[in-house]
Amino acid sequence: MKKQKTLAGSAQFSGIALHTGVRATLRITPAPVNTGILFCRVDLPERPLIPGSARCVVDVQRGTTIAISKTAIVYTVEHILSALHAWEIDNCIVEMDGLEPPIADGSSLPYYNMIAEAGGAVEQESEVKSFTPPHPILVEGGHTQIAMFPDSDKLTISCITSFKGCPVDPQFFEYELNTETYGAEIAPGRTFVNFADLKQLLAMGLVKGGSLDAAAIIHDGAIICKEKLRFQNEIVRHKILDMIGDLKLTGMRLTGRIIAIRPGHPKNVELAKKLIELAAEQA
Ligand SMILES: [Zn+2]
Repeated sequence: MKKQKTLAGSAQFSGIALHTGVRATLRITPAPVNTGILFCRVDLPERPLIPGSARCVVDVQRGTTIAISKTAIVYTVEHILSALHAWEIDNCIVEMDGLEPPIADGSSLPYYNMIAEAGGAVEQESEVKSFTPPHPILVEGGHTQIAMFPDSDKLTISCITSFKGCPVDPQFFEYELNTETYGAEIAPGRTFVNFADLKQLLAMGLVKGGSLDAAAIIHDGAIICKEKLRFQNEIVRHKILDMIGDLKLTGMRLTGRIIAIRPGHPKNVELAKKLIELAAEQA
């Protein structure tokens, strides 16, 4: 029997939030069995709890936003969720003092390390909810296709990225989710923004906290960033990071093989919702 896990202790981390540009503090604490991942807005009077569930997703523009009301809302949950997924944390409270977690360097490495600082994961006295889709699933739309096949006892993601109108070469990476390798292979991959999209994002009031500390920019086929690239295929690694985060919104330990062509939050979340539906049908 595979057991549920929570954090061994607590840890916190502060920095600037990507879209709102304000300083934010995020604190993670252990939680009892069957809690799931709950985001708590500690800056709001009622301290509302927002489930880290695909059912609570209200927006998928540039990041995954969850909410249970107009005010009880959390932006950009995918990087912290990705790190929690990698550590197999089933239950924990993510306290936040604002709308959005700190973006840090645009990767999930600070979150991955924060969980290590909290002592990592510990087993709890209850069976974990695991799920493998009973048959292949396909979600597609626009330039994206994501297929999931039941033929693996791990979670494996094969991913291809390429940006329309952008001459940066297509990238491919295949990754099997594992707590140890995630820290070296996936967590350091930083957010990328296509320069052509930046103006539009700024006009939408997004990326106010963005800087070359927090992201790399693709411009005229070149990649602009302060430090050198961490991987030659850093973009595709970040896409896998985001997908691992969005799939955490299923609230289950998933197994299967995923083939993702130009994935993004809209289709990642659609896949997560489909998996929740299939699991409910089977129950
Ligand atoms: Zn991301």
